[in-house]
Amino acid sequence: MNAISRMTTERILTRGDAPRERRYCKECGNPFWPSRHGQDFCPKSTCRSTFHQRRASRGTQLYDLAMEWRGKRRKGLFTELCRILDDWLYEDRERAKAHKVIREAHRRQLREGR
Ligand SMILES: [Zn+2]
Repeated sequence: MNAISRMTTERILTRGDAPRERRYCKECGNPFWPSRHGQDFCPKSTCRSTFHQRRASRGTQLYDLAMEWRGKRRKGLFTELCRILDDWLYEDRERAKAHKVIREAHRRQLREGR
């Protein structure tokens, strides 16, 4: 095997290896071992779809409201849009806080060897 094909093989094998670092699910916050690079969600089937369904639902709401606000020039809709965005930001921050609690408890368990 020459140097170029050996380098290519090594790169493919490295890219194909599962990451060896534990991660925390972007939706539920629970720890998991990823089976591939860039895996953001635990293997539980609902986490990935829940995350993307929430994004799609929020996008649809935003689209409808923005079209009505701009198309009909109705007063108060921009304020309503800001209120909805603030609610979502609050929800996301609360979810992040809950994930932090899970992550810290898990790391504490690992340190204490349980
Ligand atoms: Zn999850």
